[in-house]
Amino acid sequence: MADTIAFGTASAAPGQKSFGVLAIGNLADGTPIEIPVVVANGGREGPRLFVQAGVHGKELNPIEVMRRVVTDLDPARLAGVFVGVLIANPLSFEARDRKAPYDQEDMNRVWPGKPDGTISQRMAYAIYEGGVKGADALVDLHTGYSTMLTHSVFGEGDARSEALARVFGTEVLLMEEHDEDWQRARFAGKLRNTAVADGIPAITPELGGHSKFEEERIGAGVVGVTNVMKHLGMLEGEIVRPARQYVVRNHLTRVSVDTGGLFLATVQPGDEVRAGDQLGILYSPRDFGQVATVTSPNDAVVLSIAENPVLHTGDSAAMLGKKGEEFSAG
Ligand SMILES: [Zn+2]
Repeated sequence: MADTIAFGTASAAPGQKSFGVLAIGNLADGTPIEIPVVVANGGREGPRLFVQAGVHGKELNPIEVMRRVVTDLDPARLAGVFVGVLIANPLSFEARDRKAPYDQEDMNRVWPGKPDGTISQRMAYAIYEGGVKGADALVDLHTGYSTMLTHSVFGEGDARSEALARVFGTEVLLMEEHDEDWQRARFAGKLRNTAVADGIPAITPELGGHSKFEEERIGAGVVGVTNVMKHLGMLEGEIVRPARQYVVRNHLTRVSVDTGGLFLATVQPGDEVRAGDQLGILYSPRDFGQVATVTSPNDAVVLSIAENPVLHTGDSAAMLGKKGEEFSAG
């Protein structure tokens, strides 16, 4: 029989579910900094799945995904162990911001963290040591922008993570290429890439939307996490996937503007465009004259449109991906 599983103050014997916290330290006034976590310990042996929400504090749909998944999870019917982090970065959550206000660090660039580092590094370290190590699979739930297509990210050349992305079941899968941009963006410090380097297959579902709950995106996350548990043999039941899924390459193809203005998009996330096609226009608020046409540099799928249409020179109007393999589920 499996042992009791502890993560922070959460402690679950086989067949039990337990909520708890990871104690990280405290604010200047003494308020404790605590990360809420959960462990569901199955009544049967099986793999260990790590699922995280809330590393970026504005991204709320994943927290609601976790509430629904964890509420429905009956440990007596579970094989293996579900380890969940409910709000990985409570400081950025309180600030309603992407980053913790005290170190202005993106917590998803500092994995696996440091025990004696900045507050973001310490939070990452506690989660990684206590929850991620020993996992057989990892799902790091994010939302990206409100104008972003729901998709799941996996690294190029990583078949095990790609398999997870496929069963998670978003229509769009994004293959992250490890190029120069990847290095510059410190993507090696993402939780997903750190876990993969440690031999744990991992995906980043970008459900889309932030700072509010959106039912369709929450639903995609609940189906996705449940699908992953079925795929791993932790739960019984059919995996639910769309009829058509396709891979998009190039995570970082941003279309930046040379002229400032207000961006009026003429395409939607999910649209396919050809090189030279118009993505939208920029106009001046001084006389409403059009100052530029924004076009696609290549054949692409539109992944997201600038959330805020107020663009200065150098800002990004849209993110594009190159369409790759298309396949049907099954
Ligand atoms: Zn995020």
